[in-house]
Amino acid sequence: MALVPISSHVRESRTLVENLPVPPGNVRVNLIIEVRLCRLDSVTGNASSSSIFSSRYVYFNLDMLRHYGQLRQVLDPKFMELGVDTSSIPYIAIVMKIMERGLEIRRMRVSYGSYSSNMWLTCEVRAVTVAELESEIESNNCRIADIRESRIKAMLNMVEVEGGDEEACAICLEQLEVGFEAARMPCSHGFHADCIRNWLRQNYNCPVCRCIPTN
Ligand SMILES: [Zn+2]
Ligand SMILES: [Zn+2]
Repeated sequence: MALVPISSHVRESRTLVENLPVPPGNVRVNLIIEVRLCRLDSVTGNASSSSIFSSRYVYFNLDMLRHYGQLRQVLDPKFMELGVDTSSIPYIAIVMKIMERGLEIRRMRVSYGSYSSNMWLTCEVRAVTVAELESEIESNNCRIADIRESRIKAMLNMVEVEGGDEEACAICLEQLEVGFEAARMPCSHGFHADCIRNWLRQNYNCPVCRCIPTN
């Protein structure tokens, strides 16, 4: 099952009570990765919070936090075991957060003049399944299309072309024929219904006078 992270948080998970004079290069970073599987609400698009779905533990030398490539080699297999898509952009953001948070804590200790031999970090990841993300995107697109179609419908007034006011459709340049239906924009410019509908799916204004109808 492929998971896509939707949010992540890295925190220091244990207070460092030791006060050992350990050179920072020897500090061991203990990282707990917790994945929470969320569901997207199909109406609001919000993700539900959920309990821990799966977790992994990994440790590495603090210096590793300075080397993105090496850190990825250590972290990627663990995240993959958890099902997280390590080629996704949110995953890269997670790795950066781990680096930043770890180095930030290290700087904090250094300025106090003391080090701990162990640093504990917890990386909490909220993720959704790829299938769910895809269906959410699809239903979102459907909603947007529905809104657009009803906006177009409200904007157009269907009229029969009467003799004497034949005009050319400014989109296809063909004549609007007497007795056939034409679609009029609120600015009174008329077009073939299909021509103007297709135009309004890509544009917001009248192709002739550029006015933007408001309803
Ligand atoms: Zn036309
Ligand atoms: Zn117009």
